Amino acid sequence: MLFHQDNPVTGLYIIEVAESYNLDFEHVFFLDMNEGCFPKVTHHDSFLPYDLCHSFGLPLADKVAENKTAYGFYRLLQRAQNICCYFSQKGHLDGSGEMSRLLLQLTFDSKLKIIETHHSINLLERPVAAIAIQKDDSVMQLLDRFLEKEEGAVSSLTPSACISYLSCPLQFYFKYLLQLRQTVATEDVQLGILFHDVMARLYRPFAGSQIDTNMVRQLQSKIKVEIAEAIAAWRTPLSAPMLLHALLEKLLGRMLDLDDAAAPFTLLGVEVAMKQSIMLDGEIARKVWLSGTIDRIDRQNHCVRIIDYKTGRSNCKISSIVNLFDPGKIKTNKAVFQLFFYAWLFQSLHGADNAIMPYLIPIREFFLAHYTPGIFIQQPDNGPLSKAIYDVAIEFGKRSGKKYQQIEDIKEYLQPFEEGLKGLLVEIFNPTIPFAQTEDLEICGYCPYVRICQRD
Ligand code: SF4
Repeated sequence: MLFHQDNPVTGLYIIEVAESYNLDFEHVFFLDMNEGCFPKVTHHDSFLPYDLCHSFGLPLADKVAENKTAYGFYRLLQRAQNICCYFSQKGHLDGSGEMSRLLLQLTFDSKLKIIETHHSINLLERPVAAIAIQKDDSVMQLLDRFLEKEEGAVSSLTPSACISYLSCPLQFYFKYLLQLRQTVATEDVQLGILFHDVMARLYRPFAGSQIDTNMVRQLQSKIKVEIAEAIAAWRTPLSAPMLLHALLEKLLGRMLDLDDAAAPFTLLGVEVAMKQSIMLDGEIARKVWLSGTIDRIDRQNHCVRIIDYKTGRSNCKISSIVNLFDPGKIKTNKAVFQLFFYAWLFQSLHGADNAIMPYLIPIREFFLAHYTPGIFIQQPDNGPLSKAIYDVAIEFGKRSGKKYQQIEDIKEYLQPFEEGLKGLLVEIFNPTIPFAQTEDLEICGYCPYVRICQRD
């Protein structure tokens, strides 16, 4: 940034050190010369371990940034007559309250005349005001887009929207009413999207068909080609395409091995979009549209499996249906909530003579000895257990000592789920309940609106 546009030679420049190359100044002020800030800490964003890169002399992002800052700093010192360096000893946001290593080095090594002065400022701490959005007419109008009208609803509430509301009503307001979206995809997210994409590419041509082991083996031979096409179709540059390719190949190979073992089954659909309305009773009766896209639906031995692939960390067990609507527990129950939501959509649209099995596939656990797909519900200690008990001897049972049973047919649980869902929707549309902030600061840590709330 340049002030005094009319006279750039005598103007005040506010620039980063890296932008100062080829420029010389008489008076230079270095601000924020705290360790951790100057040079700025750069994260090692790679699948290759740091030590491996270091041993083989591969470029390290932190070293490159450090060298650039050091070069810019020492270069600016060459022609300056007067240099002021500032660092803060207390309460610095990014650093440790120590002076930067470059400044420390200067105090020991250089022959410059150094004058050290201390300044103190008594800043009055300003309390951060809580944010609560009252549901006035304009906000209620935004909510209207989810309601059924003569001309049809403009939009619908997805499981992610409900999870967002349970996590933090204000986050729901920002994301689904104001539609302030965040678009940056991390490596984890990229892996998840590509995995889903390749699975859909492989299976889509066979929707409605019986899948046997021969077909699965044919699909296995197409994995590499489909991955390459999915990566080529990705619009923004991927952070590590070759590593992603290798990882996807391994995960998809394992997925198809599991399908091979489960074959034959009838594939009912992939990426199946479903939309259904739900009636809310109350002072004002409202019909709200709900929707979701199910990764895959198949049928095996009179059992319809509602399949959801999860590449992130996911919990597959719940203690009760009521807990799914507990804002304090939604962090761990997201995946199960989503599957219940999908199963409810499927059941209300198609009814079902067959059993409906929610089938969570935790991809991170593919290669673990206790890999167990599906979802599990806690049973009373002396309650009856069918053969599908999630064995207490395996990993999480060992820790908790509780008994869990796999949900083989979700239908008996859908009535209480629907009641909970209606309660949640009634709250969302209740004009007297504002969109307030969550009390759980851990949720804020992963929220894209953390700056707006000043909780960073
Ligand atoms: S930062 Fe926290 S309080 Fe603010 S919207 Fe996000 S989750 Fe809610």
